[in-house]
Amino acid sequence: TLKHAREVKMSFVIYSPNLEISKETIEILSKIKEDIRNNRINILFQPKVDLNSGKIMGAEALMRLSVPPDKAIPVIIRYGLMFDVGRIILRKSLENLKKWLENGHDTSVAVNVSISQLLDSRFFPLVRRTIEKLKVPPEKLIIEITESEATVNSNNLFATIRALVDYGVRISIDDFGTGYSPLSRLKMIKAHELKIDLSFIKNVPESEEDRSIVKFIVDISRLLKMNSVAEGIERKEQVEFLKKIGCDEGQGYYFSPPISADEFEGLLKKKVFAV
Ligand code: C2E
Ligand code: MG
Ligand code: MG
Repeated sequence: TLKHAREVKMSFVIYSPNLEISKETIEILSKIKEDIRNNRINILFQPKVDLNSGKIMGAEALMRLSVPPDKAIPVIIRYGLMFDVGRIILRKSLENLKKWLENGHDTSVAVNVSISQLLDSRFFPLVRRTIEKLKVPPEKLIIEITESEATVNSNNLFATIRALVDYGVRISIDDFGTGYSPLSRLKMIKAHELKIDLSFIKNVPESEEDRSIVKFIVDISRLLKMNSVAEGIERKEQVEFLKKIGCDEGQGYYFSPPISADEFEGLLKKKVFAV
């Protein structure tokens, strides 16, 4: 509703009859509220691997509540809880990053954010405050924005992205290939990396069409001086194809599923992946 939109400082609301409050939504909401109350907003970390050296470049932070993220996030956003949930995820992610850096690992953490966070004028100041308080280098934080959300036409959104980039935080465009990015928009965002959506990785190298799409994204990343990252890698043949076309990094069950912070640190200590 409009009142709700004003409360969470969103510049627009999307009304869809499908969003009628269902029994399922109510159940998800009550589970999420209980998770928040009981301090059960957990995060798993999935390694991002350099496809040339096999070195772990960093981790993507993935939230784990008692409801899977794809189901939880729309409800979290709808009830104006995303800012507060996101604040906890950001803080916990950066606390772990700090620990890894202090233990001598050169690594980074990528945090997913949704459009409602980026449209919120409190978001950039929150990021800066958290980074300053923990004294971690801003370049070691990557903010992942899905392509379809990164290209929403909004001054608030651009202001947040520009502030993050000027401050030194890196931007990754997630699920690339599933949205609509005019090249002018890509240039404006000054993203540091493009993450190729896992739906395109799934059938390479078998599908000629997907091979072309993936190569196209890798090429455009290189031309615009961005990193290319393939997500959802599950097989050796995919790694071989991605290496051949010069994709920079990879992520997926082939290397590691999302794991706990301690398990991730264990990997940092001893593991260089065979690529
Ligand atoms: P994403 O950012 O594109 O994350 C990749 C998803 O692929 C994750 O699902 C991950 O667990 C899964 N995945 C990783 N490797 C493989 C693989 O080899 N094969 C397959 N089939 N899947 C793989 P997950 O954790 O369920 O997250 C789903 C989405 O929820 C994320 O997609 C992201 O958009 C969103 N999300 C997750 N955590 C957060 C968060 O803290 N904040 C926000 N705003 N969104 C989040
Ligand atoms: Mg992501
Ligand atoms: Mg993705």
